[in-house]
Amino acid sequence: MNRMPALFIGHGSPMNMVLDNEYTRSLISLKEKLPRPRAIVIVSAHWQTAGTRISASPKPRQIYDFYGFPPELYNIRYEPVGAPSIAGRAHELMGGDAEGVLVDNSWGDDHAGWAVLKFLYPGAEIPITVISVDMAAPASRHAELAARLAPLRDEEVLVLASGNLVHNLFDADIMHEDASPDPRGVRFDAIAKRALLEGDLESIVHYERFGDDARYSIPTRDHYLPLIWAAALRLPEDSVTFPCEIMQNRSVSMRSVAFGL
Ligand code: ZN
Repeated sequence: MNRMPALFIGHGSPMNMVLDNEYTRSLISLKEKLPRPRAIVIVSAHWQTAGTRISASPKPRQIYDFYGFPPELYNIRYEPVGAPSIAGRAHELMGGDAEGVLVDNSWGDDHAGWAVLKFLYPGAEIPITVISVDMAAPASRHAELAARLAPLRDEEVLVLASGNLVHNLFDADIMHEDASPDPRGVRFDAIAKRALLEGDLESIVHYERFGDDARYSIPTRDHYLPLIWAAALRLPEDSVTFPCEIMQNRSVSMRSVAFGL
């Protein structure tokens, strides 16, 4: 059995779910290249916790965690079954309760997961489990936990980390997806691209070293942390490709990264 890739997908505005644009077309063409995994482990920017949590629900609920959008977005149904046994395996690999990683079925599948998966696996036929982002932990801890999940890639499990590499909602032009991008975001996006290509996980983890560009791009860490998970799952022989490289809404990078695809 071939090794599964590890993915980071930028998800951006929920409006993308119903738009035909360069970003959504990138997901549709990525779909054609993806293998068919036994299960998908989602690392969600939208499940923000103190300590790491993993869902082992057999039937995760679809969460519409966005507000004030057109009704058609709330009518989208994407309801894969859960993957409790894969969740158990991931929990064990991360060190389990002894490492402060807790099983927690109170959450479900928020739109960081389903808004992306509806393009990649439109039939919702692949079981899922979801891992939270620990907002209390240093970035290095995220890299450490993610690296422990690497064996899953040889067990027919796809890891999909979903966030945004540059995500400054304070400066976003939410009405205009094609708004001219801020140079600070563009520069940081390019810095991260180079680090990803070079396998420079240190620079991805210690992004603060990039000063103003990093401060502008990551005012809060929630959407950036999933990138660390995907980058830490990279194996030395993996190819690195970027299915999407655009910016939207002035301050949101829609860059996606595929390792080993
Ligand atoms: Zn988001």
